[in-house]
Amino acid sequence: MFGYFVSIKNIKIMSKKIVIIGNSAAAIGAAEGIRERSRESRITMISDEDFVSYERPKILGILDGRLKERQLVWRNQDFYKNNGIELLLETKVEGVSTHRKRLTLKDRDSLEFDELVVASGRREALPSIKGIQKEGVVAVNSLADAKKIQENLPIAHTVLVIGQGAVALELARIIAAKKIEVKFFGQFDEPPEGVEVIRDNPVIEILGEADVRAVRLANHKVVGATLVIFSGSPRPYADFFKDTDVRMEGGLVVDGTMRTNIPFIWAAGDVCAPGQEGASYGWEAAYASGRKCGECLCRI
Ligand SMILES: Cc1cc2nc3c(=O)[nH]c(=O)nc-3n(C[C@H](O)[C@H](O)[C@H](O)COP(=O)(O)OP(=O)(O)OC[C@H]3O[C@@H](n4cnc5c(N)ncnc54)[C@H](O)[C@@H]3O)c2cc1C
Repeated sequence: MFGYFVSIKNIKIMSKKIVIIGNSAAAIGAAEGIRERSRESRITMISDEDFVSYERPKILGILDGRLKERQLVWRNQDFYKNNGIELLLETKVEGVSTHRKRLTLKDRDSLEFDELVVASGRREALPSIKGIQKEGVVAVNSLADAKKIQENLPIAHTVLVIGQGAVALELARIIAAKKIEVKFFGQFDEPPEGVEVIRDNPVIEILGEADVRAVRLANHKVVGATLVIFSGSPRPYADFFKDTDVRMEGGLVVDGTMRTNIPFIWAAGDVCAPGQEGASYGWEAAYASGRKCGECLCRI
């Protein structure tokens, strides 16, 4: 009787099409968690980035020359091939129909799923100040952002780092070590040589034609700059759930099995609301919650 029950469950998961939004710590964790229990289910992973899975926490390493791009690779093409995973890179999810179990993709046909795993992380949100769309304004989220900074540095004369946290401080240190002037907008105890800290006088406008040339501060002073970097205020990134009934409270709300309020939608990693069971921020935690999510999904 028990054996019969198990085989029915296996058939259920076998024929399922599982789509994972993401290709980073939580998404890979979920894929591995699923594959450990089910070789047969169909898995598609979607990422709006153009690179196979890489170690996001190490991206600043390419700026100070510690690491080459290829050393960031975390799971290479063989991983997807050996695990029978379809990987869609440079593919942005724009919407989700929870009624039709379908994803809307940018410039591609829509995609159906039986189970959806959301592992879309958090992203630095640029403030809505005038001129924010200019070339030379960067929010540090991805390898592409680190590469953008790297390309700009040889021609940079003054770089503004606006934000808080370890990444912002590290960026300021790396850039100042290249003998480029850095102005840091935020808290920086014991800044190194070459970093000027500006407090209580935020940037209210980015100036220039297409490219950044300067910024205007709250006291109306204009400060020249060629690169403006934002870091330290990421927010859960699941805009594709706008106008759906998926519960968000400062992130996706999940239960102890990483399931959202919609029975066939699961979530893992940084996109989850803080304080959720099994969900906490950071690379290792994202991977662990992804694995848990994949394992729980196979138990249904
Ligand atoms: C510079 C930097 C340094 C860091 N250093 C550390 C550190 O030292 N230690 C630490 O623990 N953590 C660190 N972190 C944080 C860590 O990287 C994250 O906690 C971790 O990556 C979260 O993993 P995740 O899988 O939940 O999301 P992410 O790694 O953010 O991945 C999200 C995935 O979803 C995809 N995606 C998102 N939206 C869409 C969409 N609409 N369509 C298609 N694809 C989409 C993205 O392409 C990506 O593949 C750092 C982060 C940065 C940016």
